[in-house]
Amino acid sequence: MTGSTPAPVPSSPPARRPVLLVVDDQSTTIQTLYQVFAKDHQVLMARSAQAALQVCATQLPDLILLDVMMPDMDGYALCTQLKTDARLRDIPIIFVTTHDDEVAETRGLDAGAVDFISKPINPRIVRARVRTHLTLKAQSDQLRRQAYVDGLTGLSNRRHFDETLEREWNRARRQGAALSVVLLDVDFFKRFNDRYGHLGGDDCLRRVAGVLADSIKRPADVSARYGGEEFACILPDADLAGALQFADQLRLRVRALDIAHAHSDVAPVVTISLGVGHAVADAHHDTQSLLQLADAQLYAAKSDGRDRVCGAQLVAG
Ligand code: GH3
Ligand code: MG
Ligand code: MG
Repeated sequence: MTGSTPAPVPSSPPARRPVLLVVDDQSTTIQTLYQVFAKDHQVLMARSAQAALQVCATQLPDLILLDVMMPDMDGYALCTQLKTDARLRDIPIIFVTTHDDEVAETRGLDAGAVDFISKPINPRIVRARVRTHLTLKAQSDQLRRQAYVDGLTGLSNRRHFDETLEREWNRARRQGAALSVVLLDVDFFKRFNDRYGHLGGDDCLRRVAGVLADSIKRPADVSARYGGEEFACILPDADLAGALQFADQLRLRVRALDIAHAHSDVAPVVTISLGVGHAVADAHHDTQSLLQLADAQLYAAKSDGRDRVCGAQLVAG
């Protein structure tokens, strides 16, 4: 269970049928619900709480229809357990029960269910309720996505970057692994704005962001707008040499955009300076010390003449 870590940002809305998980120990109920939903939904089935947890370990349902009374672990307990898992806690759960009473309903809602449906199942009611909760889920996913995206560039924003860095640091610490961070900053960008206007500046930032978005290859890597004309990348599994190479590729790709910059002292085109910080995630350091290192390296790249990469490794102690 990963109760204290932030939930991952949901990916873009699925261009697929919604996935329902039906959990019930009675095959008649499963069959009924399957017939109601099979046409427009992908229906996964589990006959026990344990089986439901196994399904959720590999697949992410959009909604769960959950029987209250099951032999191994009852629906309330399963619901409570799902709500402690950051990956699963936002999946709406509807209880399906013969217990059509207020006490059962209150208990289910307390455990985190969004709704109640009673057996025998009325197909029109269950379909309408599922549709409503899938719509609400899609809307809240959309809001959550927006809260993590930078409006100008479409990259992750600072908040998503900070939360991801914290999560990746903790993961690396558990595994005794290392982590690299790249900070980069556009050279003479104030002069660029002065010469080409703020809208021209915005366009330049979008194109630099496009290079970052295209350069991220591994699923765990993240690139973000760190602030103003600064960007940042997290490379969870890269060693220092790999991170330096990645950073220099970014530098070359930004140069290759060939965005005219008549007032830069380093080149006739837009360039960037980059700082790389690398650390084994251990008890001597934290994300702040890694960021400070990357920032100091960025400062060094600026003072050494800009349009270059500097990097260093945090040493223990
Ligand atoms: P250096 O090479 O040392 O990095 O110099 P610089 O001019 O790039 O650095 P400075 O920090 O002095 O200027 C950053 C500029 O970035 C100033 C600010 O107006 C501009 N800026 C910050 N955010 C945005 C934005 O969203 N859009 C635009 N167009 N400009 C921005
Ligand atoms: Mg700056
Ligand atoms: Mg700058």
